[in-house]
Amino acid sequence: MPVAGIHQPDLRRRRFLQGLAGLGLGAAPFTLWARPGVQRLRMSVDGSTTRLVFDMDGPADYDIFPLDSPHRVVVDLAGARVLNPLEVASNPRSLVAGVRYAQRNGTDLRVVLDLRAPVDPHSFVLLPAQGSPHRLVLDLTERAAPVPVARIAPETFAEPAERLREPLREVIVAIDPGHGGHDPGAIGPGGTREKDVVLQIARRLAERVEREPGMRPVMIRTGDYFLPLRERIDRARAAQADVFLSIHADAIHDRRVQGSSVYILSDRGASSEAARFLAQRENSADLRLGGVPIESKDESLTSVLLDLAQSGTLEASHSLAQRLISEMHRVGKVRKPEVERASFAVLRSPDVPSVLVEAAFISNPSEERKLRTQSFQNSLADAILTGLRAYFSTHAPPGTLIAEGRRDRHIIRPGETLSAIAERYRMSVADLRAVNDLPNDRIFAGQVLQIPYRGS
Ligand SMILES: [Zn+2]
Repeated sequence: MPVAGIHQPDLRRRRFLQGLAGLGLGAAPFTLWARPGVQRLRMSVDGSTTRLVFDMDGPADYDIFPLDSPHRVVVDLAGARVLNPLEVASNPRSLVAGVRYAQRNGTDLRVVLDLRAPVDPHSFVLLPAQGSPHRLVLDLTERAAPVPVARIAPETFAEPAERLREPLREVIVAIDPGHGGHDPGAIGPGGTREKDVVLQIARRLAERVEREPGMRPVMIRTGDYFLPLRERIDRARAAQADVFLSIHADAIHDRRVQGSSVYILSDRGASSEAARFLAQRENSADLRLGGVPIESKDESLTSVLLDLAQSGTLEASHSLAQRLISEMHRVGKVRKPEVERASFAVLRSPDVPSVLVEAAFISNPSEERKLRTQSFQNSLADAILTGLRAYFSTHAPPGTLIAEGRRDRHIIRPGETLSAIAERYRMSVADLRAVNDLPNDRIFAGQVLQIPYRGS
């Protein structure tokens, strides 16, 4: 269909093929492919960002540009076709009110997103991974900040352009083994203590997250000692965790009950906790909304921002929990297929998506035995990692290696050695040096290394 309007000066143009070349894969293998097809269009809303994901059966050149009066974003996909009708569910919180599309010039596909407000589009591509196809991801944030936010914008909100210039970072996964020290948690009929098996599972998960490009684990409890629940949340927030996973093993009087469950905070628990946080200015002072500090002295404004942060967090928590459940199905019985909601204090972080995994019923004799085995612990850790990958493929915050499709990069932290980095990515020091043209083993914090990403 004809689309009238003037191109904005901030025309954004990116290409799948350039992205592939940047990953060192080259474009040659793809020239043989048939016309790329759009399999599906997905939309999600996370806080103030509306994300659209085009699932594609192959890479395509694309242009993205916004148009005004009325506000639209145009996505042109060169040589592409539509395999299934593209539509998104109506969502009043989405910046996208509707989707139209048509073939142009006989071969190209033009998709027009009708908007509720002017936006800044930000796009990136994701290569096929874990059963997901080629994806073009489009994040839309409102161009002019809404009125209440604008009042504090100069001090507290970085310009999007500034944020994009910041160096990319890894996503931080906080792993919290439940209980510890004088609190053994539940004790199985054979004497197995929850605090011990959940620490073992957490360690296995941390090893896997450590080896995963673009992710970094933070263990909330590393040994057999007690930590209050509030302290666990505080440690995760101090580490600027992107997600918080609390690992437990369930117990119930009826020893026949089996299976794993995943919990997120119930709405009621969330709202009362939001109120509690509000009451404590020292806490509300450093809440983060989508990675941006909230530093308002205005009570009602802080309340609005906290609501936004909390609702975005619950939505993200739910999404993470769903992905974990669908992976944990492969490991063993899942007690209930849907995400459960409860008012666990440890889940009450208003700004970090948080889930609680009950690995199995330690009160069931066969699950108690299973919980102690390496094979179950490893399978569960693998399943959780796969769930994390799926979650971050759609929820990685802007500015992270995963969000920018740069899982082939490693940012050197203070104290890291080349041999430790090589070990982490399961490659030799010689190979790592060769790939990065390093004359010797000397590296420095902040240096960016290229890691040949093999997928997994
Ligand atoms: Zn527990």
